[in-house]
Amino acid sequence: MATVVASPSQTQVTLPSTKLLINGQWVEAVSGRRFDTINPATGETICNVAEADEADVNLAVKAARAAFHTKAPWRRMSASERGKLLNKLADLMEKDADNLARLESLDNGKPYTIAKAADVALSIACYRYYAGWADKVQGKTIPVNGDYFCYTRHEPVGVVGQIIPWNFPLLMQAWKLGPALATGNTVVMKPAEQTPLSALRVSELIQEAGFPDGVVNMLPGYGPTAGAAISRHMDIDKVAFTGSTEVGHLIMQAAAETNLKRVTLELGGKSPNIIFADADMDAAIEGAHFALFFNQGQCCCAGSRVFVEEKAYDEFVERSAARAKKRKVGDPFDRRTEQGPQVDDAQFHKVMSYIDSGVKDGARLVAGGERHGDQGYFIQPTVFADVQDNMKIAEEEIFGPVMSIIKFKDMDEVIDRANRTMYGLAAGVWTRDIGKALAISNGVRAGTVWVNCYDVFDAAAPFGGFKQSGIGRELGEYGLQQYTEVKTVTMKL
Ligand code: NAP
Ligand code: MG
Repeated sequence: MATVVASPSQTQVTLPSTKLLINGQWVEAVSGRRFDTINPATGETICNVAEADEADVNLAVKAARAAFHTKAPWRRMSASERGKLLNKLADLMEKDADNLARLESLDNGKPYTIAKAADVALSIACYRYYAGWADKVQGKTIPVNGDYFCYTRHEPVGVVGQIIPWNFPLLMQAWKLGPALATGNTVVMKPAEQTPLSALRVSELIQEAGFPDGVVNMLPGYGPTAGAAISRHMDIDKVAFTGSTEVGHLIMQAAAETNLKRVTLELGGKSPNIIFADADMDAAIEGAHFALFFNQGQCCCAGSRVFVEEKAYDEFVERSAARAKKRKVGDPFDRRTEQGPQVDDAQFHKVMSYIDSGVKDGARLVAGGERHGDQGYFIQPTVFADVQDNMKIAEEEIFGPVMSIIKFKDMDEVIDRANRTMYGLAAGVWTRDIGKALAISNGVRAGTVWVNCYDVFDAAAPFGGFKQSGIGRELGEYGLQQYTEVKTVTMKL
């Protein structure tokens, strides 16, 4: 196996296969094309990877369909055996945790210590959680009228296309593969073009664990080519997508124009994080900082509209700016680093242009606002105060380390303003008053509400969006429903 040395820290990272995995074989793309994947801390190429396109998607779907045949090993396997395979994969990931975290950090730019403690650990926990479900997915017997015996079966949907983003490559892979495999589907997955490496390493471990050929096919490539071929394919039964709301629309459109494949979407957000003056202010300031800046601000559920009650506003602004200025930005492999680079040049420029628009629209810049350093895609932790609801930085998803602080007066007003968005992914509320916590939790139209905490994820707790933040739920028992079809069987007695 090839190794590379990550600069500037000189950390050794072992690379996985850089081919496509189709039907249990590592192969080059039909076109023979390859594309570069970049280290965002330096802008240098790490390696190149085979580039899937429509022809490769067709081969992968054929393999996945064959693996889904009722006589194929995967379909003949007992549910508990599927659970064992998922646990075996989790065991292998645990053994490989160090290098998986290094790959994730190198390819994505997130700090290594966080990749290890959060991304790798939560991914393993997700596979184990769904391993436990494999033999517990069951139907019902139904007391119908007449002399009939009626029952339901929860059957796998079939061949599932899964298209995942670059912000949490390992974790988004686990959220998708865990429930799909526990319930007996077969998969054609496209990792994000920016971050294919950890997905390829997990694919090697899937092979090593002993999943039958064709059950998981891994196709790095670009969205408009490989991704579109998945979403338009006539023999894919369902597509699960995480990424931008814009591409979410394209995925649904493609399903509508082809075979009405089932669609689940986990999209963007502009999540309100509401801070009342009675909150534990130390916890609220640190919590709001984490809610926005975690993962370089590249979280779909980032608390990106920080609503602060008038009485606490000045203190909150001043202390949040001071906290942001203290945030340690730098080499992802340095153990003290809290924030690495943005994922690529395009995201870097997009975030910088939002900072420009905040300044032009008259928001008050109280921390950051500039590029950090002179190589890679680093951005200073940035805080705007006096942000108005109709400014671009308060309306659009920035997906970077840019906090917008907005003043509010009372509860009804803040609920209305929090809901004035096309998104509905998450929300936070900070208060010592249980009445306020419940009023916000009930009043905000969002799939997740965190009270006096933020970004608390567990494989058992469902996650997903209201409104244009998505369709369906991932994780937990709810996540399983998206990967099964209910069959009703009625028998004359
Ligand atoms: P994106 O384009 O939505 O990418 C997500 C995934 O969809 C990638 O695998 C992408 O492929 C693929 N894709 C792109 N176009 C497609 C198409 N026409 N058909 C099928 N698949 C397609 O997101 P992005 O461009 O990387 O980031 C842009 C913005 O999206 C961000 O600034 C952020 O606002 C949002 N975003 C949200 C999340 C989230 O967790 N909800 C994650 C990432 C980004 P490629 O690899 O070629 O892009
Ligand atoms: Mg990369």
